[in-house]
Amino acid sequence: MTDACDVLVVGGGPAGSITALELARLGYDVKLVEALPMPRHHIGESITIGVHHQLSHLGIESVLESGGRQVFHAHEERWTESIMTLKPAAPGAATINRGMFDAACLERCSIDGVKVIAGRRTRSVKRVKPCEWHVTVEGGLALHARFVVDAAGKRGVLPRLRETTGARTIALYGYWSGDGLPTLPRVFAGSAGWAWGAPIFGLGYNVTLFVDRTAIGRCGGDVHRAYMEGISDAAIFDTGAGPVLRSDIVACDATAWFEKASVGRDFIKIGEAAQSLDPLASMGVQNAIQTAMWASIVINTVFRRPEAEAAALGFFQDKILSSAKSHAAAVAEIYASNSEGASLPFWARRAALRTPPMEDAEILEVKTAPATATTIMRGSAPLVDHACLCGSYVETRRAILVRGGGEPVAFLGGFAVADVINRIAEGCAFGELQEWLATQVSTRLAERLLNWLFRNDVIRPIDV
Ligand SMILES: Cc1cc2nc3c(=O)[nH]c(=O)nc-3n(C[C@H](O)[C@H](O)[C@H](O)COP(=O)(O)OP(=O)(O)OC[C@H]3O[C@@H](n4cnc5c(N)ncnc54)[C@H](O)[C@@H]3O)c2cc1C
Repeated sequence: MTDACDVLVVGGGPAGSITALELARLGYDVKLVEALPMPRHHIGESITIGVHHQLSHLGIESVLESGGRQVFHAHEERWTESIMTLKPAAPGAATINRGMFDAACLERCSIDGVKVIAGRRTRSVKRVKPCEWHVTVEGGLALHARFVVDAAGKRGVLPRLRETTGARTIALYGYWSGDGLPTLPRVFAGSAGWAWGAPIFGLGYNVTLFVDRTAIGRCGGDVHRAYMEGISDAAIFDTGAGPVLRSDIVACDATAWFEKASVGRDFIKIGEAAQSLDPLASMGVQNAIQTAMWASIVINTVFRRPEAEAAALGFFQDKILSSAKSHAAAVAEIYASNSEGASLPFWARRAALRTPPMEDAEILEVKTAPATATTIMRGSAPLVDHACLCGSYVETRRAILVRGGGEPVAFLGGFAVADVINRIAEGCAFGELQEWLATQVSTRLAERLLNWLFRNDVIRPIDV
């Protein structure tokens, strides 16, 4: 059997499902191949409020309940202090059963018109010529597609070109039941690694240990021993408690890296095929969905606005690079915050990846919009061309390069900030700008915008 489609998605995790869903909604003929019958088990069960916002935006937040979501208002932590402390959880922090959650996402794809082929592994993905792929799937199925989305997780199905951004880390995990189990999530630092534990709907209490890759070798290749020693080192269970390990222990790589060739005119790599984040951030699922949402817009641009292809591809590769770097910097700070571990190799290696503090940026004289400003002029913040998301397309817009680095800013609250610069002439009256902005956006946004414009020296007062 041979079958053709516009876009073929390989992998039915959150990244693959969301891209397929979005593309089907944009009117494309999409097929998705998932190797395993659903529901299949998967690690990555702690989610942030960001996932809820993303799914609400997509109109499918009910998949969280189908995924057995449990929300926690507090967690137990032993990290910066040597005693366990009860800490308020980040708003909306929750755990899900990934098997159930991923199956629910995939079901939504089918409802929205994606042809889902589950329980069959993609065997080979070959480019016959540019924008023409030939894909073979277990069971003698042959598929043709113009565009391929690699959403096959860590292993991916397309050739890799990866750069590591964190220390080599291995994760060991298993599920526990029995007496004395904690009822809240726990994050505990040990001397040679750290452990995360949390109740997961239908599966028990997951305890995952994160250690250097050499830890298993030091235990003579005995995964069980390495896990038990790590759990005891991090003291994740209370003394005298009687939890029982009721699953096999799974070992998997948990090193952070990103893909240097994440996108081309007929392929894109998303989710964990594009980027693996340090699990400390609990952002893997959110990131998978985010890259999927970007990917659907990039693909739509490549298909329907070929003149914007280069901007769309550049947009995606830049996003992968900048999020990899910013996550790496953020988690290095968290590792460094375990001051007790500072002299121990596991912690020192990770803390060493902190980025040096930025050089003192020029101090701005004006921090907020001065009440007395009567005349304003253009400040020093440069305007640059920048690829950004505009509805269902990537477009190049004028954007403001702000001090201290970071991505240029084209929109604030949906308002194109460069319009202010087009509007003002040298020596423009501040009141005129205020009046004009009031006709464009809400009073609150106008106030925020003006403060932001002054703070970043996009505009500056002349006579104060
Ligand atoms: C130890 C550990 C703990 C983690 N903890 C968290 C956490 O707490 N919170 C969090 O948000 N993230 C966490 N993550 C990250 C999270 O698991 C991933 O970011 C997330 O699963 C990525 O989703 P995805 O859709 O890209 O890939 P996946 O969910 O891995 O989906 C890929 C799919 O592709 C399929 N596939 C693979 N090869 C083929 C093929 N040849 N043909 C067809 N199908 C194929 C697979 O069967 C799979 O279903 C953790 C990761 C690790 C390693």
